[in-house]
This record gives sequence, C-alpha cells and structure tokens, in this order.
Amino acid sequence: MKEDCIFCKILQGKIPSQIIFKDEKVTVFKDVNPIAPIHYLIVPNQHIDSLNDVTIGDELSLGHIFTVARQLADKEGIKDGYRLVMNTGVDAGQTVLHLHMHLLGGKPLTAKFS
Ligand code: AMP
Repeated sequence: MKEDCIFCKILQGKIPSQIIFKDEKVTVFKDVNPIAPIHYLIVPNQHIDSLNDVTIGDELSLGHIFTVARQLADKEGIKDGYRLVMNTGVDAGQTVLHLHMHLLGGKPLTAKFS
C-alpha cells in the first residue's frame, strides 16, 4: 500500500467505492465517472504505479486481471463487445498512479483509438 494513493485508500476501505468483486489478487470497483454503462476498474491489490513498473514477479496478479475481466464480461452479459484499457503514463492519460484496467461495455464502442 502507498500512503498517498487514492486506489490504495479505496482498497483499504478508507474512501467509499462501489466494489464489484474482490479476491486475494485484485479488487474491482465502479469508475466514479463512467463513460459506458459498464465501467469497472480492475485493480491489483498490491500497489504498482503503472505498467512501466511491472516485473516478472507481478505476472500472476496481472494475468489474473484478464481472467476476472472475462468472468465479469460474462456475468454482465457483454461478451459480444467490451474493451479493456490500461492507460500508461501521462501522455496516455493515466491520472491515477496505481495500475488499473478499465473494463468498458454495455453499449457500442465506436472510437477505437484516439
Ligand atoms: P486513468 O485516467 O486511466 O488513470 O483512470 C483513472 C480512473 O479512475 C478515471 O476513469 C476516474 O474516473 C477514476 N477514479 C478516480 N477516482 C475514483 C474514485 N474515488 N472511485 C472510483 N473511480 C475513481
């Protein structure tokens, strides 16, 4: 956990959030500013600033993010189309320095890249 990290505070229950799923490796909660009907953030419980800081030791928890995303897409009935986004670094628009994957779906996702 990192002292000044907003997602670490959410994981510790110090900041309220709408938690969808939690296990020993990841926590999923609703994005506070959703851009799609389904907009979840899949967050490793262990603090990692961004993909730039990932090491081989993180492979299990990062791989698990994809399994959880697939399970949630199934549960939410959006397997016909959903998008996983991991913004990395300022130029990509990463605003929270705790690695996370956006799960977006529930509507046609038109703009592929920008
Ligand atoms: P990114 O811009 O890729 O770093 O994504 C950060 C996301 O975190 C944004 O979509 C924000 O809306 C979301 N966010 C920021 N603070 C909170 C919070 N307290 N609870 C839920 N989502 C948040």
